[in-house]
Amino acid sequence: MKISKRAQDVPASATIAVTARAKELKAQGVDVVGFGAGEPDFDTPDYIKDAAIEALKAGKTKYTPAAGIIELRTAIAAKLKNENGLTYSPDQIIVNMGGKHSVYEAMQAVLDPGDEVILPAPYWVTYPETIKLAGAAAKIIETDRANSYKITPAQVEDVITEKTAMLVINSPNNPGGFTYTPQELKAIAKVLEGTKVAVLADEIYEKLVYGDTKFVSFASLSADAYNRTLTLNGFSKAFSMTGWRLGYAAGPLEVIKAMGRLQDHMTSNVVTFGQYAAIAALGEPAADSIERMRAEFERRGQYMAERLNSMPGVECPEPTGAFYCFPDVSSHYGRTINGAKIAGSMDFAKALLEQAKVALVPGLPFGCNDNVRLSFACSLEQIRKGLDRLEKWLGR
Ligand code: PMP
Ligand code: GLU
Repeated sequence: MKISKRAQDVPASATIAVTARAKELKAQGVDVVGFGAGEPDFDTPDYIKDAAIEALKAGKTKYTPAAGIIELRTAIAAKLKNENGLTYSPDQIIVNMGGKHSVYEAMQAVLDPGDEVILPAPYWVTYPETIKLAGAAAKIIETDRANSYKITPAQVEDVITEKTAMLVINSPNNPGGFTYTPQELKAIAKVLEGTKVAVLADEIYEKLVYGDTKFVSFASLSADAYNRTLTLNGFSKAFSMTGWRLGYAAGPLEVIKAMGRLQDHMTSNVVTFGQYAAIAALGEPAADSIERMRAEFERRGQYMAERLNSMPGVECPEPTGAFYCFPDVSSHYGRTINGAKIAGSMDFAKALLEQAKVALVPGLPFGCNDNVRLSFACSLEQIRKGLDRLEKWLGR
């Protein structure tokens, strides 16, 4: 059968591919250390599972409004108000099939062919593809280690044209593991004033910040920022609910309605009993379980960054958010390790997996070939073992 040009132009997700490959090797009995997965290794807390079971038993098994049940959208509105200082009515909120679906649907609702989207590199692999699928073009802003891989307001100003329809801000960042300070975000918001650029603020890692890092929602920076921002979030990271597929978007009513019309025809509602579990997730015990997880990630991230920085030719900023280290390993490019020529991040990741049985994601699909991404969403024991192998492999 013929394959559409649209589908032909979209590569498979590098993050999913690495995770799947590591799992496959493990299933074959190979002792692989997996630093690929961008998913918490903790189980979903029991109070959330129990709510889903109860909902299922109570017959919450039928269609709901496509945007989600009003009780969930009300609970999300309360969360956004209390935790993020954002006032959204429930009809300014739509519940999607995971944060990834929120990103896709938001791009489909806002972008037209010919539009440009400012995309800071490093970026999560899904943004360029969803921009392309909406017929728009990504205007990538390069960043560097000296600036912790963050963009500056001047860089944004430089690339804004008549065609610029959107800026993607993902803080805390995947794959960079950095978080913008409120001052940095304010300076970027200032540059956008007077333009027609919408902001897609992907805040899915908001709960995972380390040290004295403060998270702030982009839409809360000013009235101007509020009006131009679509706030995206979800349950995957904060509540260890990756498999439940629960994300949401909040923003201007007309945009959320447009997303709703698309959703009416694409997926309809998110699984019904899952929506009841999501209400429970946002309830009372949330803070405790999130803090336990956050503190554990912080310990692991510090350890991983310290170990990476102690290896020759590896430079890694300490992560201030999310659960990724994103070291620059480019000083090893040009070497031949155990017969494998390492020309860039793809070769690095491939040879490391084949020879030392450590899975990580090459930086190239994140827009930074100098780097590789290691997730620390796995036990300290695994981290130690994987880093020992990496160190030995580099040392050869
Ligand atoms: N945004 C970012 C930056 C992510 O890294 C991810 C995936 N880990 C998502 C959105 C989507 O997550 P999910 O679809 O599981 O909600
Ligand atoms: N987003 C996570 C990651 O970056 C999960 C995989 C994916 O959906 O891309 O690893």
